[in-house]
Amino acid sequence: ERELTVANTHATSHGPGAPGISDAGFVERVRDAIDRQELSLVFQPQADVATNRLTGFEALSRWRLSDGTMLPPDVFVPMAEQGEAIHLLGEWTLRTACAAAAGWVRAGYPDIPVSVNLSARQLDDPGLVLKVLGILAETGLPAANLKLELTETSMFSQAAEAREALVQLRGAGIRLVLDDFGTGWSSLATLRRVPVEALKIDKQFVQAMVEDRDAAAIVQAVVALAHALDLGVVAEGVETPEQRLYLQAYRCDVLQGYWLSRPLTTDGVSDFLAKRSVI
Ligand code: C2E
Ligand code: CA
Ligand code: CA
Ligand code: CA
Repeated sequence: ERELTVANTHATSHGPGAPGISDAGFVERVRDAIDRQELSLVFQPQADVATNRLTGFEALSRWRLSDGTMLPPDVFVPMAEQGEAIHLLGEWTLRTACAAAAGWVRAGYPDIPVSVNLSARQLDDPGLVLKVLGILAETGLPAANLKLELTETSMFSQAAEAREALVQLRGAGIRLVLDDFGTGWSSLATLRRVPVEALKIDKQFVQAMVEDRDAAAIVQAVVALAHALDLGVVAEGVETPEQRLYLQAYRCDVLQGYWLSRPLTTDGVSDFLAKRSVI
């Protein structure tokens, strides 16, 4: 217990959440992690709720420390977001995800987009649009095969410049999705400001839906709202056949979750694609 107290003191008195690590130190750690291939991406399939047809993959970051410990993205992404490391991590993620998706196109799957989580802090970078377009050019990925998942909490404090960046990305043909919909503060205001093509319902609602009438009502209302605005709607965290049946009854478009598949490694994606193409 004593050790914990000491660790906590360090965590609050030093850099981005880690004892004794300054922001510059964390940028270096992320750079090393990239060089040593401690960072990787896994890809979780998404499918049409009604037909089960594959509609894309979400890229999720993984960090395996040299001793084998997995550092969860819920830990290292917020740490990176506290300083400049998010720009390095974000650019690596975009480039790696786009390179993977360009490989799927070359392997004969032209219509399988990759969704990449974009941190709000990346929108503060005035060079973001050019970076993204540069990565598309470099990897040869068509703009329509890239989706960016934006969290609405992130948009709350958003400056006009950030909105302008999103308009430019959308104008270039990149598709925008509002992630974790319903968990933030500004959902409806954000919808009017940002040119998104789909809403993603957070797993907390999806997983409560079968047991809890309020959660079910929220899922139905979000589907209705999305469709009234001519937007698509994706449900995440779908684990059971019952949840899938509810989503089908509610006319939700796309699902993602362990019911369909856990996030897959690059090899796992190849196997998944090969199996799917037979269906
Ligand atoms: P998210 O964007 O809401 O991603 C969905 C999370 O739910 C992922 O956790 C995914 O592995 C998990 N998940 C998927 N299906 C199921 C299911 O059926 N049941 C349950 N219980 N969980 C499921 P993960 O990979 O640990 O990522 C956590 C969060 O970290 C993500 O939440 C996202 O906000 C963030 N994140 C992950 N990778 C990146 C990244 O490359 N960049 C940024 N900015 N954020 C990332
Ligand atoms: Ca996401
Ligand atoms: Ca999220
Ligand atoms: Ca979520």
